Amino acid sequence: MAVHEFDLVILGGGSGGYAAAIRASELGKKVVLIEKDKVGGTCLHRGCIPTKALLHAAEVADHVRSAASVGVTATLEAIDAAGVRSYREGIVAKKFKGLEGLLKARGITVVAGEGRLAANRSVTVGDDRYVGADVVLATGSYSRSLPGLEIGGRIIASEQALALDEIPSSVVILGGGVIGVEFASVWRSFGAEVTIVEALPHLVPNEDIALSKGLERAFRRRGIKYSLGTRFQKAEQDDSQVTVTLEDGKSFSADYLLVAVGRGPATADLGFEEAGVSLDRGFVTVDDQLRTGVPGLWAVGDIVAGLQLAHRGFLQGIAVAERIAGMQVPALPESQIPRVTYCSPEVASVGITEEAAIAEYGADAVVAYDYNLAGNGKSEIIGTGGTVKVVRQKDGPVVGVHLLGDRVGELITEGQLAVAWEAHPEDIAPLIHAHPTQSEALGEVFLALAGKPLHAL
Ligand SMILES: Cc1cc2nc3c(=O)[nH]c(=O)nc-3n(C[C@H](O)[C@H](O)[C@H](O)COP(=O)(O)OP(=O)(O)OC[C@H]3O[C@@H](n4cnc5c(N)ncnc54)[C@H](O)[C@@H]3O)c2cc1C
Repeated sequence: MAVHEFDLVILGGGSGGYAAAIRASELGKKVVLIEKDKVGGTCLHRGCIPTKALLHAAEVADHVRSAASVGVTATLEAIDAAGVRSYREGIVAKKFKGLEGLLKARGITVVAGEGRLAANRSVTVGDDRYVGADVVLATGSYSRSLPGLEIGGRIIASEQALALDEIPSSVVILGGGVIGVEFASVWRSFGAEVTIVEALPHLVPNEDIALSKGLERAFRRRGIKYSLGTRFQKAEQDDSQVTVTLEDGKSFSADYLLVAVGRGPATADLGFEEAGVSLDRGFVTVDDQLRTGVPGLWAVGDIVAGLQLAHRGFLQGIAVAERIAGMQVPALPESQIPRVTYCSPEVASVGITEEAAIAEYGADAVVAYDYNLAGNGKSEIIGTGGTVKVVRQKDGPVVGVHLLGDRVGELITEGQLAVAWEAHPEDIAPLIHAHPTQSEALGEVFLALAGKPLHAL
């Protein structure tokens, strides 16, 4: 077996792994990145980027449909599935090429192959052994299903949904979380009949209730159907359709069933436990610095329990590379990581919900302000409704920012700065927002919470 020595060995070239590789190489480390498929991982090839390309095509279709409302004559003739596919694949291919070039330019060794963690901070790939002073585990996640519900045929997960060569005429989506509502939004814009089945009482159930209810209203207006609060019982398929039955006996039939019930950590059969790494329900157990219990072994990204988001992977990869280089990097609380669901309308949040703030500080110590986007000029111009809700401690800092409306994902960075810097609305209110922008809606809330509302009561 050939032995290769590096400062840092990284297993998995997705968001978490490649961010760690780039930062470590910037810090002068000799790095090897082991990837069995394509660098960029889920996010670039099967997640964030291709789904956002689909959502953009969906937005264009909606704009064409509603063109007459702004005095533009246009007719939507059809959605060309092959055309959408080639647009989407073109974006992914460009980003992939760019990433490969970046890794090469940084002098990072990329090894193509399936790696397995072995003893003494090493990873084996076939007959080669890569030994590091440190090893970062970044093997990512896979689409989960429910017991007895096998992916196959007309029962698909997000990977198969992206690979579909047709626009389905009807779809049932199991799961009203981020992946479920994004696909619901795309397929509805492409003309499909869509029904979401969510066992919890609301869509996007982890969000502030104001956003969940607002999204439900908006989806209802768009003709997206949903069943809330009843659990899935079974799914049966034949050559032409799949029928989903819920525990209350209701059933829905469609061309496809998309299973979007979450993602599990890809940690099985990779030698992790044999090397002394402890797992909890499959997730790698780490401390707040992302150290596993084994000296020199670290973990980042979706295999670490918490928000499964690409930018969390980037952040963790960078932080681990810096810690390995001896820098002091404080842990970032999960609540300070911005969350965006890119359906139409978009859902974006950072910090804690009003309900969580009340549980933490008490009802008398929390103030929340909800601003209806109907009052915002730019939102009116682009034809979106929605809400901006800010939660603060009474006479204290902003602890949560919750947004609903088309394009509001772009506004969440300001919310993140407010929450992470523990800003008081009084600090932000004097920093005037450009007119007419959607960001003014956030400005209005800070003004209102500072006791001087402008376009609000
Ligand atoms: C449909 C969908 C949409 C999404 N949209 C968004 C979004 O809009 N925004 C967002 O922030 N997040 C989004 N995500 C989540 C995001 O993709 C993940 O959080 C992110 O990719 C996690 O990065 P990671 O590095 O932990 O894992 P991954 O990106 O999964 O990368 C892990 C890599 O490790 C490789 N690997 C695994 N085992 C081995 C092995 N034994 N040997 C060698 N290589 C191995 C895999 O091939 C893979 O390339 C989405 C996910 C999905 C599925």
